[in-house]
Amino acid sequence: MREHEIDDHGPEAAEPPAEAVNPALCPECQGAGQLGSGEVCPVCEGSGKALNYRPGGG
Ligand SMILES: [Zn+2]
Repeated sequence: MREHEIDDHGPEAAEPPAEAVNPALCPECQGAGQLGSGEVCPVCEGSGKALNYRPGGG
């Protein structure tokens, strides 16, 4: 069971305190479907859903 995947590719990554992030939402746009600049999110292509999210697991 893995709730969070941690990337340790650096000495210390200054990441903001992540609160409860919905794993079902796109990690890039947080379910907004678009980026802050107004562009369509390239990760979820505007769907706002996490493509790798599998409910139930297995
Ligand atoms: Zn997205």
